[in-house]
Amino acid sequence: MRQYILLNPGPVNVSPRVQQALLRGDLCHREEEFSDLLAGIRAKLLRAFAPDGYTSVLLSGSGTLAVEAMVSSALPEGRKLLVVNNGVYGERMLRMAEAHRIATVELQSGWSERPELGKIESILQADPTIAAVALVHHETTTGLLNPVREVGAITRRLGRLLLLDAVSALAGEDLDLARDGVDLCACTANKCVQGLPGVAFVLVRSEVMTAMQDAPRRSLYLHLPLYWEAQERRSIPFTPSVQAWYALDEALDELLEETVAARVRRYRAAALLLREGFTRLGLRFMLPADQQSNSITSMFLPEGVTYRRLHDDLKARDYVIYEGQGKLQSSIFRVANMGSLTLDNFRQFLQALEEVLGLPLSRS
Ligand SMILES: *Cc1c(COP(=O)(O)O)cnc(C)c1O
Repeated sequence: MRQYILLNPGPVNVSPRVQQALLRGDLCHREEEFSDLLAGIRAKLLRAFAPDGYTSVLLSGSGTLAVEAMVSSALPEGRKLLVVNNGVYGERMLRMAEAHRIATVELQSGWSERPELGKIESILQADPTIAAVALVHHETTTGLLNPVREVGAITRRLGRLLLLDAVSALAGEDLDLARDGVDLCACTANKCVQGLPGVAFVLVRSEVMTAMQDAPRRSLYLHLPLYWEAQERRSIPFTPSVQAWYALDEALDELLEETVAARVRRYRAAALLLREGFTRLGLRFMLPADQQSNSITSMFLPEGVTYRRLHDDLKARDYVIYEGQGKLQSSIFRVANMGSLTLDNFRQFLQALEEVLGLPLSRS
């Protein structure tokens, strides 16, 4: 079997141990064994990411499902959501709120710019009907890190909720939900958590989950309190992707053994090694070093090199890189370092990249 090294931001390469977990055997979700699996995963999520004052809700689906469940469930009737938009995923949260008829205020900044904190504060102060701020921790569009802790300090001080899309950040970046003032945090199993696609989750401050029981039900399938009530009874409303849950269970064991802090350091070390190599090869970064995440590097395509050529020549050597999104599609390429990979994998990738960049440009 050909095994690609995935340098895209999810789904990631997982360990043989996580792959093996798929084979635990068929299981009915109405049986006691499933209730044990559910309770076990929920407890491990809290142990890993939010030991005090939080609860967790598991959902079968991709990261977008968890984000949309968060956005559509958290707001009281008639209150607004301030969306910080500096990339594809901020934009997506805006569209979600609109789809659920939630009134929004947008704070837009460039795709390589952090939001102005003073503006967030003044918008919230001027409009008491804004109940929550939606922010993306790691804008995967570019690899930009948004200032979660600073935004959390503002929302906490002004008594608003902070909804965080941490789909590509959790287990890869320094994030402490309680310290940073995050009220709801959406994530997926198959990025930095190193599970397989098909299961996602939302971590919610317990008091906020209680208050959300009174929020209007804007969707049948996405309403978080519905899942939470069932999961507190060790049950689940709809058929889950059982095998993906097995994989997440194993991935969380692996994460707790490694520890979240050590995983964040491992990703950081891999990103630094890659960036040293990219600099040596003369590539130019899209973002300044202090705004770059631990798991994505965005670079301008070198003069005369198309993404298609770069991608195909690397794929022929078993490496899968990632294209730019939206308006960046033809100007940048992205290399992610998420998943069960070693520094040796990244060293070998740099060799392959050097080889490919040295090929004649006219070949397309
Ligand atoms: C990947 C990603 C998502 C969406 O994940 P899917 O699993 O593709 O639905 C949402 N937000 C961010 C920041 C992401 O990186």
